[in-house]
Amino acid sequence: MIQLNNIEKVYRTDTIETQALNNISLHVQKGEFLSIMGPSGCGKSTLLNLMGLLDVPSKGDILIDQQVTQNMADTKMARFRNSRIGFIFQSYHLINDLQVLDNVELPLLYRKSTAKERRELATEALVKVGLGNRIKHFPTQLSGGQRQRVAIARAIVGRPQIILADEPTGNLDSAMGDEIMNILLDLNKTDGTTIVMVTHDANMAERTHRLVRLFDGSQVQ
Ligand code: ADP
Ligand code: ADP
Repeated sequence: MIQLNNIEKVYRTDTIETQALNNISLHVQKGEFLSIMGPSGCGKSTLLNLMGLLDVPSKGDILIDQQVTQNMADTKMARFRNSRIGFIFQSYHLINDLQVLDNVELPLLYRKSTAKERRELATEALVKVGLGNRIKHFPTQLSGGQRQRVAIARAIVGRPQIILADEPTGNLDSAMGDEIMNILLDLNKTDGTTIVMVTHDANMAERTHRLVRLFDGSQVQ
């Protein structure tokens, strides 16, 4: 589902050159739940951003759903990303002055759907994460775990084949982190969603299908 071939990523400014990823080759199967671990600065977020087509590699190819992604025009790339990939971040990235339902509808605004369809799909996604009774709340009226569940609803509302999660439980206590992990495991098992998750928590990683460790931009296992 996600194929990285000999990926290099170098960040360049006038004075500094940082090699963030060094010759990474990785194939994430359809329906796989993969975790990525490694110390701070080893390239985890960079790798996730490349998989999510938020940034381009300095060298190498990325294929998503068997389609070559380099040289895709920006608008085509955005549409491609929006239709296939959902993102979840450590700090939720919700819009605080929009109600929960409106936050979850956001990814659908780029599609040809009616207001009624958007509302139905967003409500369905919120019910799925156990927040059917919070749709009129604002994010600031929710606990951290609930906010992350809203973010998951927003990630799944367009029914993506792939979810990319960057430390989704990093700001949560272990009970709420477990809840979030259970939702991700259920999405993977029930809907067959391919998931790649960056985590610092070895217990979470153990519950996924496979663990990839990065060190200083290279894959060590
Ligand atoms: P991790 O997610 O594992 O903490 P990152 O992927 O964020 O690591 O960063 C990998 C390396 O790339 C680090 O050395 C970091 O300083 C560098 N880096 C990340 N983003 C940028 C950027 N936009 N510009 C320059 N260097 C960056
Ligand atoms: P937790 O103990 O899980 O962190 P909180 O104590 O923050 O949860 O919240 C308990 C419940 O009260 C939650 O279901 C949340 O939706 C609701 N709640 C919290 N803060 C507010 C608020 N400012 N306005 C309305 N509801 C709130």
